[in-house]
Parts: sequence; structure tokens; C-alpha cells
Amino acid sequence: MKTASVIKCADQSPVTQEQLAQINRYSRRELTAQEVYVFSLILCDNEIDRDYERFTSHGLQKLSQLFLGKTGIFDHNPKGENQMSRIFATQVVEDTSRVTQIGEPYCALKAWAYMVRCEKNADLILEIDAGIKKEVSVGCSVERTECSVCGADIRAGACSHVVGKEYDGMLCHRILINPTDAYEWSFVAVPAQMSAGVVKGRLPSSSVPEGDLLKALDGSRDVTLTKGQVQRLKDHIHSLEGLAQAGEEHLLYLRKKAVAMSALALPGLDSKLVEEMVSPMDLAHLKKYVDGVCHTANQTLGLQTQFSSEIQGAPSQAVYDNHEFLI
Ligand SMILES: [Zn+2]
Repeated sequence: MKTASVIKCADQSPVTQEQLAQINRYSRRELTAQEVYVFSLILCDNEIDRDYERFTSHGLQKLSQLFLGKTGIFDHNPKGENQMSRIFATQVVEDTSRVTQIGEPYCALKAWAYMVRCEKNADLILEIDAGIKKEVSVGCSVERTECSVCGADIRAGACSHVVGKEYDGMLCHRILINPTDAYEWSFVAVPAQMSAGVVKGRLPSSSVPEGDLLKALDGSRDVTLTKGQVQRLKDHIHSLEGLAQAGEEHLLYLRKKAVAMSALALPGLDSKLVEEMVSPMDLAHLKKYVDGVCHTANQTLGLQTQFSSEIQGAPSQAVYDNHEFLI
């Protein structure tokens, strides 16, 4: 979920005395600057994320306290040997040059973490330095989740608003109110494997919200459909098939007419050639072509055809009769 990444910056420079003092609050013995490796990361921000959820800036302030001392793990697997780094300082940073989708100043929760420089951690330190290990996600819980449109508490029962849809020009999303706990933060190689229940946002993202079916099937993720949603999709495909059949018939009719009217307007033109010419045309071009040859036929032969107006609608029996006659 939440955009979160390791920041590559001057934090890899020697550890400051202030940082060392903060780190030593969490260590059993006094660590020296040479023994620790420090890096910083963005844990989360107040932008609407891929799951259409966002923290408030107040929520980020709360999380900045909750994440102090929390260990970083891999793929949300809280086994002891996975706990390689610990957050020792946090700060909510504001970027005044940037506003969020809802027009608030952008702010993010930045954290500083330390690891012990040892053989076991050498590879990880190298990967962080090289920018390979940079995706992180956070696990936390919030007091309530509100609909951005009507303010309804989603856990108390969903409202009718659909996340990702716009209402009066505003993108509907969920607002995560008042974080109550931060479990951990994790380097994730494959975010889809994050364990549901611990990591906010993963479970709902795999199911498709009602009313937003086609939009959810954009191929960007795996989705789970209910039986009702499958039926709705089938009905939709069925109605499209009917429309496609009608469209095919209309195209066929227009092609025949194009050939017939070309024979009148341009008698020197081979009808086979006209057939080949019009067969790849889409509806708009075909209509224009038929309009054109009807017009020419009218002018050169003084025919009182009604075709121009009639081809806008469905073919009538009268047109078919005329068409047969013209051939
Ligand atoms: Zn709502």
C-alpha cells in the first residue's frame, strides 16, 4: 500500500552523535558510530494510495509516535531472525511545493532506522545502498475508516459510494482515521504476498467493490468476483453480443448500398473494386462514402433518392426495395 521507500541520501554518511544517542536508547549496550548503519525511509504519506485510501496529516503525526522503536522485517514475516533493523527517529515532513489529490499540502512520515554492521547484515546493507531493497510497507491499525464523500464509517456498514469513482468532481476514497497501533514495517519483495489482516489494505483490494466492476478489471491485479458480479458480467457480454450483431447487419447493408450507388454515380468504376474498397471501412467512413455517392448520383442523374436521410437510421423495407431495383 502506502508509497514507502528507502531514501538514498546523505544518511549513509557517518552517524551523528545525536543519532547515536537516540539509537542507544534501544540497544542493550552502548553502540559506537562504527558499529551502526543508518538509513532513512518514507513509511507512508497523506496521498490517496492505490487502494484508494489515505491517512490524514494528523494520522501521520500519530503514526510517527507509534513507529518509534518498531523493527523492520522482511515480507511481513515476524520471525526473530528477520528483525534486522529498528526505527529510532521519525518526523512528519511537509513538501510545500506539492499538494495532494484533494488539495492538501503533501506530507510524509519519514523514519530513520539503524542496523548493526555485521557479517550477517552486510548483504542487506549493500542492497539498501544499491537501491535494490527499497520497497517497504507498513502494518498498522486505525480506529475508523471513513467514506470521503459522506463520512460514513465503513466498518459499521458500507455506504453507496464507490471508491475510485468521482462524485461532483471529487475522487471517492477511504480516509484512515486515528491510527491506534503500528505493528511493524517491512521490506517487501512481492507486495501481493503481504499477509492480510496484519497489513492494512491488502484484503479489500482483492475483492471488487459493487458498482465498479469494469473499472476494477483493468488487469493491474488479481481480483475475486462474487457470483452476482459474474452474472452481471455475463449479462453485459450478452447484451454487447446483441448490439454487435445489429452493427454487423447495418454495416453489411451499407456496403451493398455503397456498391449500388457507386454504379449509378460512377458507372465506369468496377463494382468489385468498390466492394474491396468499402469492405475495410468503419461505420463513420462508410456512411460518408454512401452519402457522397448518393449526392453525386442525385446531381448527375437527377434522381430523387431518399438514401441520405435514411442511412442514418435502421434500413427500412423501402430502401431494400430500392436497393434491389438499383442493382
Ligand atoms: Zn459514502
